[in-house]
Amino acid sequence: AEPVLEIKNLNVDYGLGDQAVRAVRDVSLTLHRGEVLGLAGESGSGKSTLAYGLTRLLPPPGVITGGEVIYHPEKGDAYDVLGLSDKGLRDFRWAETAIVFQGAMNSLNPVHKISTQLTDVLAAHEPKMSAHSRTARAREMLKLVGISADRMDAYPHQLSGGMRQRVMIGMALILQPQVVIMDEPTTALDVVMQRQILGQLIELRERLGFSVIFITHDLSLLVEFSNRIAIMYGGRIVEEAQAATLYKDSLHPYSAGLLGSFPALRGPRRELTGIPGSPPDLKGMPSGCSFHPRCPKAFDPCADTIPILGHPETPDGSVRTVACWLHPASASLKEPVS
Ligand code: ATP
Ligand code: SF4
Ligand code: MG
Repeated sequence: AEPVLEIKNLNVDYGLGDQAVRAVRDVSLTLHRGEVLGLAGESGSGKSTLAYGLTRLLPPPGVITGGEVIYHPEKGDAYDVLGLSDKGLRDFRWAETAIVFQGAMNSLNPVHKISTQLTDVLAAHEPKMSAHSRTARAREMLKLVGISADRMDAYPHQLSGGMRQRVMIGMALILQPQVVIMDEPTTALDVVMQRQILGQLIELRERLGFSVIFITHDLSLLVEFSNRIAIMYGGRIVEEAQAATLYKDSLHPYSAGLLGSFPALRGPRRELTGIPGSPPDLKGMPSGCSFHPRCPKAFDPCADTIPILGHPETPDGSVRTVACWLHPASASLKEPVS
């Protein structure tokens, strides 16, 4: 499939000068048309920073310090999102790429009916649309996300958390964007509800044809629902593969650790092992492979030299990358690291 979003060598820092810490390190990732790309990693691995960076919604003191984010609209020429003017950005967000934030269900305006919040998005982006058509589109969108017409005039507090989350998805989809990024608040919604919402998003994707980046701690959800999975650790992508491949045959010890943290979906039971230790502190990243202090397979080169993503061959030619010294395809980082 064609690419819709190509992230190339993206770096994101928090703070400036001596105080700066790098939260996203040299991330390259391609989202293809129609696909669901899952992004997993423990808390603090940089998932949200990556999502905010690529949509240019980073709160201060976040700064993008390098890279490109090439967007391919359905019609017209590709462009770098990082080079957009404020006006360009306003059109890009919502209309081309929409993001549903971590905690989004609490970001609805409490004093407006949900229908009004949807029609306001239309009014801002499609000023020529009649009020009647806006209302009709809002109703249709809410129906698509499973909220019936008689709830259109409800206020956010009259809806459950799951329903509010669905309203946010409806709002994200109302301008028919090509890309929807969902940064799932694992803590705010229970697993059953997360699963329902993701299942529904994927059903909508089949009907409306957008692509999805889904961010979660819960790798089991991704194995079930996504086409491809990228795993982040310490701000870097450490492995990327087709979901089934990653589940059956992960190459990076960190991925194996994350997979060992949930029960097998089917087949023989896995031993639940989890990962000992805790994620690295950005202020004092370990030398070499940043996972080495926690890695059960660490050996000679690991503490000295940073492995960067290599591309092992796959039988079907699908994209597969891994950054680990156990795999000959991984290369060493040549530039000095900050
Ligand atoms: P979670 O799963 O908990 O949402 P995450 O993978 O989304 O985690 P980020 O929120 O992107 O992780 O954070 C990445 C790193 O950047 C963390 O080490 C975090 O402490 C740091 N960070 C995030 N926001 C800021 C900030 N405003 N100032 C300084 N550091 C920050
Ligand atoms: Fe473990 Fe070494 Fe691979 Fe890092 S490079 S994941 S420390 S084996
Ligand atoms: Mg996050």
